Amino acid sequence: MSLPKASHVRQQFLDFFASKGHHIVPSAPLVLKDDPTLLFVNSGMAPFKDYFLGNKPAPYKRVADTQKCLRVSGKHNDLEEVGYDTYHHTLFEMLGNWSFGDYFKTEAIAWAWELLTDVYKLPKDRLYVTYFQGDEGDKLAADTETQNLWRQYTTEDRILPGNKKDNFWEMGDTGPCGPCTEIHIDLRSDEEVAQKPGRELVNADHPQVVEIWNNVFMEFQRLADKSLVKLPAQHVDTGMGFERLMMAVSGVKSNYDTDVFQPLIQFIAKEAGVEYHGTAPATVNDQPATENEKTDIAIRVIADHIRAISFTIADGQLPSNVKAGYVIRRILRRAVRYAFSSLNQKQPFLYKLVPVLADQMAGIFPELKAQQQFVQRVIEEEEISFLKTLENGLRRIDALEEGFKSQGNTIDGKTAFELSDTFGFPLDLTALIAREKGLTVDEAGFQKELEAQKNRSRNAQETEQSDWVVVNSDNGELPLFVGYDVEEAPARLLRYR
Ligand code: ATP
Ligand code: MG
Ligand code: MG
Ligand code: MG
Repeated sequence: MSLPKASHVRQQFLDFFASKGHHIVPSAPLVLKDDPTLLFVNSGMAPFKDYFLGNKPAPYKRVADTQKCLRVSGKHNDLEEVGYDTYHHTLFEMLGNWSFGDYFKTEAIAWAWELLTDVYKLPKDRLYVTYFQGDEGDKLAADTETQNLWRQYTTEDRILPGNKKDNFWEMGDTGPCGPCTEIHIDLRSDEEVAQKPGRELVNADHPQVVEIWNNVFMEFQRLADKSLVKLPAQHVDTGMGFERLMMAVSGVKSNYDTDVFQPLIQFIAKEAGVEYHGTAPATVNDQPATENEKTDIAIRVIADHIRAISFTIADGQLPSNVKAGYVIRRILRRAVRYAFSSLNQKQPFLYKLVPVLADQMAGIFPELKAQQQFVQRVIEEEEISFLKTLENGLRRIDALEEGFKSQGNTIDGKTAFELSDTFGFPLDLTALIAREKGLTVDEAGFQKELEAQKNRSRNAQETEQSDWVVVNSDNGELPLFVGYDVEEAPARLLRYR
């Protein structure tokens, strides 16, 4: 079976909204130099923030685009899911259509439905839509307008109410906000659908009942005293995950089984001399059950991470020891470790993937092709430098494993710090290895060691910035971005295995 081409499916989205009077704009870079509140662009909305805040007039009233997004820090951090699930990525494309004070709910909903069912021909009886059910605390009524609009297109049992967490969007503590309506698709087999209706699995982290498109209707402004007032103009902000759309139009069960990831996956498998077994992982509690699963997870992680690393470097953010640069270095080291441990790649490997990705994306994101050699060189250098210490660090963990088990299955803060300081293991890499061994990491102990080291260097009156700079959440404050969802992920993953 030949898979639908990514370039074609993406173009259909852009052409569709162009035909509805939208101006097509290119993706903004992943790092917005003039927005210190975000390490990386994590939604299609971020580059347009000033228009919604009224700081700048929008040059066009209707815009559509595909925006590179990275969800590896701050409010949105999906890193821990990547490779283990089939539909969260670090870097992904968010397709969006925008109305800046122009059309509102009626048109947005009509067009979303037309695109999905007429253009992409997704089956209507597999689509579910949600609307905001209201919130007493905020004295907000249910969004019955959206509910009624959907009644023109689908049946009552596919229109579901949703709470504030899923169906009310806010830019921040203050600022524009409003209800949203999301579209979910059920990609399970007919037999599975007969056993349990898809409506019961919407927003339940099921790998084949997934959210594909969020349509936000900005109509309020949250003031500092927390009250809400109507905005002078109403806006539409939508975001559809392109890789998930590809899964839906391809009729497959994993984003990785689409044309977006297959060229990378095939290249990795060939280069490493392994086979990719495909589709949904059956990992239990994040412990790969079989060798095949271990290989598959590593391949997915590498295919995902190379995209994040390459595009961030192409957009001007080099790996480093601080802030956004350190986030990239950590993602890169995570990928190197998978290639090393699961695919037996003891020499630099990731950099070889850059030309495959650059060719694949040349039509839509030419910035990578234009800097292909530079990006390759940066990645290869990073790999060489980390591979020098990786093996020793892994050996150190193995040697101490029995000791960790006897101290409450915990890697103590001091060792975690040593791994970081001497072997270049970012804390989240240590946590990942720990998780695979059924251990946890004493993060508080690690932070204490980190502070102690900082004090030592302060006392030594070093003026230079130390190697140990804490990477931030989006608000620019402590702690390390590794306030991650380690606890949460295994529970979610367990449920469907
Ligand atoms: P989910 O609930 O699946 O984590 P979300 O509610 O966090 O998604 P939104 O913030 O509403 O996602 O973003 C809009 C769309 O972007 C989603 O409907 C989804 O299709 C896509 N998306 C979100 N996060 C990711 C990700 N990590 N990888 C790929 N696509 C994503
Ligand atoms: Mg999410
Ligand atoms: Mg969601
Ligand atoms: Mg959502």
